[in-house]
Amino acid sequence: MITFYPGPSKVNNKVLNYMRDAFLDGVLSINHRSPEFEQIYKDCVTSLKEKLLIPEDYVVMFASSATECWEIIAQSLIEQESYHIYNGAFGEKWYEYTKKLKPAAKGTHFDMQTELDVDALEVPHPAELIAITHNETSNGTALNYHTLAKLRKIYPNQLIAVDATSSMAGVRLDFDLADIWYASVQKCFGLPAGLAVMVCSPRALERAAQINENRHYNSFLFMVEKMQLNQTTYTPNVLNIYMLMRVMENAPSIVETEAKTIARYTDWVNFFRSISSVELLIENEWIRSRTVLALVASSDKVNEIKETARRAGIVLGSGYGELKSTTFRIANFPAIKTKEIKLLMEFFNEHLR
Ligand SMILES: *Cc1c(COP(=O)(O)O)cnc(C)c1O
Repeated sequence: MITFYPGPSKVNNKVLNYMRDAFLDGVLSINHRSPEFEQIYKDCVTSLKEKLLIPEDYVVMFASSATECWEIIAQSLIEQESYHIYNGAFGEKWYEYTKKLKPAAKGTHFDMQTELDVDALEVPHPAELIAITHNETSNGTALNYHTLAKLRKIYPNQLIAVDATSSMAGVRLDFDLADIWYASVQKCFGLPAGLAVMVCSPRALERAAQINENRHYNSFLFMVEKMQLNQTTYTPNVLNIYMLMRVMENAPSIVETEAKTIARYTDWVNFFRSISSVELLIENEWIRSRTVLALVASSDKVNEIKETARRAGIVLGSGYGELKSTTFRIANFPAIKTKEIKLLMEFFNEHLR
């Protein structure tokens, strides 16, 4: 079976060896307060910073999921009010989850077919943090560099938090443009679910210290305290941290990975030009995701494609949220092999004409 699901997604082929190594080297039984674990944590962060070009003064911490990051941010980095900017289901969910903890949170929805107009935003003055999704996995849109740069410029006093769950490790992120970036590893990192990476600026740490929230096992300040020891606040997913370390040690620089992602994305766009029964959901290429392709067709066609693919041993991503019946999605993540993409193209050539 080949999967193009955009999360959980195809795992890196080397994961089998890494799991075996972890077992044989006793990694699965090490204590999370031991020097052996601290070394893995440290090496993992070093490789992440080197390969993803994370600024030296940013810190890297671990959580269990992107969903947990939503809660960590809400409880520890917002005192009263945040402002959520979203065009799809994941950004909206983040807003909904935050409202449960911080009822004063506000938000604005923008159209997925149009570029976010940063100049027209009216972020309320009391908002302490701006929450935005870099790559909206539900509809295949992404923010570009200029949007984030402008946001940073117009709102220099707010913390900016970015959900990069389905883009981190697939394309280059300009970490300087925001204060908190997070992703879970079952998307572009090509690992099994159950771990998230949080990349935070010195400003985020300062702000957390001001707020001084310390009531939870995953309070941001408690996480920082443990991170300084190369530890986590609870017994973490040691296997996944170990595998993340191995994957990152083995990965090329994100510059190279991004070039591959973009080349494959371009191949897909050209390919779908020649197919008349389905179309890319997002018309404007400037705001289209490079890591998740969303295709639109009639709901009968969508069902038929997914079903025929499944019988051929290929899993396509379903539509998400309100786009469930009229779209399907294709992950363009680094762990997918070129020959698998060729196979899917051949399948489409045969069944979509
Ligand atoms: C997958 C995804 C999430 C949720 O990730 P979990 O690890 O399941 O919490 C959040 N945001 C985006 C953009 C996603 O793609």
